[in-house]
Parts: sequence; C-alpha cells; structure tokens
Amino acid sequence: MDSAKEIWEKALGELQLQVSKANYTTWLKTSRGISSQENIFVVGVPNAFVAEWLTKRLHSLVRRTLIQIVGRDIDVQFTVYNKEQIQNSSFACANQADGGTSTKAKVDRFSPRYTFSNFIVGDCNRLAYAATVETVENPGHTYNPLFIYSSTGQGKTHLLHAIGHRAVSSGPKVAYTSAERFTNEFVTAIKQKRVEDFRSKFTDVRIFLFDDMQFITDKKQTLQCFFQIFNELYNNNCQIVITADHHPKDMAPLSDKLKSHLEWGLIVSIQPPDFETRLSILVIKADEMKMPVSDEVLQLLAKRTWQNIRQLEGALIYLTARAKLTRTELTPQTVDMLLTSATSRQQKNPIMEIVADYFNLSVEELTGKGRNKKTALARHIAMYLMREEDNCSFAETGKVLGNRNHATIIHGYRKIATEMTINPKLHHQISEIKEKIHSNKASPKKC
Ligand code: ADP
Ligand code: MG
Repeated sequence: MDSAKEIWEKALGELQLQVSKANYTTWLKTSRGISSQENIFVVGVPNAFVAEWLTKRLHSLVRRTLIQIVGRDIDVQFTVYNKEQIQNSSFACANQADGGTSTKAKVDRFSPRYTFSNFIVGDCNRLAYAATVETVENPGHTYNPLFIYSSTGQGKTHLLHAIGHRAVSSGPKVAYTSAERFTNEFVTAIKQKRVEDFRSKFTDVRIFLFDDMQFITDKKQTLQCFFQIFNELYNNNCQIVITADHHPKDMAPLSDKLKSHLEWGLIVSIQPPDFETRLSILVIKADEMKMPVSDEVLQLLAKRTWQNIRQLEGALIYLTARAKLTRTELTPQTVDMLLTSATSRQQKNPIMEIVADYFNLSVEELTGKGRNKKTALARHIAMYLMREEDNCSFAETGKVLGNRNHATIIHGYRKIATEMTINPKLHHQISEIKEKIHSNKASPKKC
C-alpha cells in the first residue's frame, strides 16, 4: 500500500496534465500528501486561502483523480500544514530537475495500475502489445525504435508503464518520461546549466520510454535535445519506445529527416476497442476497484459508444462511486438514466454557450469548420476559457470543440494568452465573458 506522500505525488502527476499550468503552480505545486485513511485523504496546503480555493474549485477533480489512483471511493480534505511537517519530511518534488536518478525514483514512476497482466489484448491493440513485449524481452534488437500511435485514452501510456515494470523486474535499466515532463525538466536544466546531466539520465539506460511525443514537435531546442538522446541510444543498440497521437508522417512540424528517424523501426497503431474488448476491460477494472458490478450493467456500459477507454473507465468509476455514496444499487435502468443525463450535460457546455452567445454565433458554428474572423476568434477564446475557467485538458477541450486535435487547442490557447496582454480590447472582451461565466457558475459543470 502506497503512503500518502506517494499517492499524492502520483495524483499531482495526473493533475498537472489536467489543470492549467498557472493553476497548478499557484494552488497545487506546494501541496503535500499528509494522510490516507479508509475514507479520507488529507492534503496539506500552505495557508487557509489555498485550502478554501482548492475546496471550492478543484475538490471534485482532485477527488476523482484520487479515486482512480487508490481504486476505491475516498473523499479529500485540504488542510493547512505546519512548517515543521515540511522541514522534517523528505517530500520529493515529482518534477525536480534531476528527476530522481535512483532506481527507487524510477520504479515509482510506473503506475501499479498499468501492467501487462491487466492489459486486455484484442484486435485493436494486438500488434502494439506483442511489439512492446518484444522490446523488453529483446531490447534494441527487433524493433528499434518502436513507435506507437493512437488517439487519446487507448492504452499507450499503459503499455509504456507495463514495459517499465517488466524491465525493472527482469533487469534492463529503464527510463520513462512524458514529453511534457521532459520539456519542463529540460528548461530547468538549461537554467541550471546542467543539460549534460539531464541528457545522461536518459542515455545511461537500456530502454528509453518517451510518452506523448506530439508535445515537443514544435519546440525546437527540446526536439534537438531529444534527437541527440535518440541518436546516442540508437547507435548503442538501446531500445527506444515512443508514443504519440499521430503517425510520424502526420506530425507536421517535424522535418522529413526527423520523421524518417522515427520510421527506422516499427510503427504500430492502436485502434478503438470493439465490444468484446471493451467488456473485458470493464470486467478487469471493476475487479481492480473491488466493485461488484453485475454483468448486465457491464454489458450495458460496453455497448455504448465511447470515444476511448479512459472515458469508459471514467463512467464505471462515476457510476460505482455514486452508487456507493447514495447507497443505491446499480441496475441497468439507473445506469441508463445516469449516463443519459451525464451525456446531455456534457454536450451542453456552458462556456461554449456563453462564448457563442457573446459573439452572436450558434454553438454549431463555434464547433464547426467555419473560419471567418469572428468565428475563429470566438473559438480561440473558448479554447482559452475552457482551460482557464473549467480546468479542461487540451484533449477534452478539443473533443468538445468539434473533435479538434490538441495541438490546435494549444495553439488557440497560447494565442489568446499572449495577445490578451497586449490587446486591451481582447482583454476587455474576455473579462466580460468571464463575468458571464462566473454568474452562471451557480451550477458549475466541468467537462
Ligand atoms: P493513452 O496513453 O493512449 O492516452 P492510457 O494508457 O492512459 O491511454 O489509457 C487510458 C486508460 O485506459 C487507462 O486507465 C488504461 O489502464 C486503460 N486501458 C487502455 N487500454 C487498455 C487495455 N487494453 N486493457 C486494460 N486497460 C486499458
Ligand atoms: Mg498517455
């Protein structure tokens, strides 16, 4: 059983990807996992103001994240910690520049929830699964690099962690990083003039696992550093496994030369799962959560159309947590009703409605393909506000905004964030829309 500190470090890792950078730095970065009891997880924060803000604004997101990590229903409480607690403790920051070079630190990075034994294999992912097993059994020899791509929530990170676990238990030294973390640590390393140390952390291994490469394709320096590591590892016959949301040839900002490096080995995709695979995943997830759910309910869930497995799993967690809290049984009827109302709430996203209304557009125009100046501006503002006000991830925002890819959303978000600081008219428009959003927050709905 993980300690409160370890659980909270994992939660912070997940939360960092789900909330805006500003919110993470301001409200979450200094928090600590204090204690984890049967039903309550206590998070320490530096002052009452932060505790109140987190309770009001992020309570449900933090709770959902913790439920996923501990695999049972648990509530969260934010409390002010005293200074001695920090001085006496050796809280490690998950993002510190050295990233933890000890074996222990690396082992900690692999989620116990993501192993080969709980990965369900179906037609959608058979090749990716077989290739990942091969990379850890025969590192650097058969497929190098192995490049796995799929849309979000289809099991790429799960497979990388599974390689990590297997490598830790069978010998080869392994390093895992997400491209986002790699970028953050690289920037810190530049500031601290420790780029060599940073690079050697990844070149000093037998297997290098690099998750979500799409995050660095437009970051020139980071990309250069990544390919230096790539070349060194490749020349030393070390195994490289990369995941991304697209095939290398569709990763637009990359030069043809770099694309071709990624194509030297094997490229496999993971497709959305079919009914049988969805059902098997639900069975294993319900079992892991120690939640008795009837076959009928699992079948009903698996039959629905889900964009990805994360959503499917999220629905199971939501339903079982709700049933436990309200002490009601999950029947096919209640499940149907709850899912229908959750879906319709999700489709009616208040921020989109408010932004569309402000610009005299319909929500369909906002999410559609039209590119006239007004629609494009409104769309970018929606991207910005969904992140800032509702803490939506870029992927979630893209989904709600007409299934746009997350690179488009990041671009829109950054454009507004930058322009706002130099364009008073835009600043004023956003303040007005924010006011409308806040007055609508009587019944907030996060996406
Ligand atoms: P991605 O990295 O592609 O966005 P993840 O690896 O984070 O997706 O998977 C999202 C969730 O779905 C995780 O909880 C993961 O365990 C689960 N999942 C995905 N594919 C499978 C599978 N084949 N078997 C079991 N669980 C899966
Ligand atoms: Mg992932």
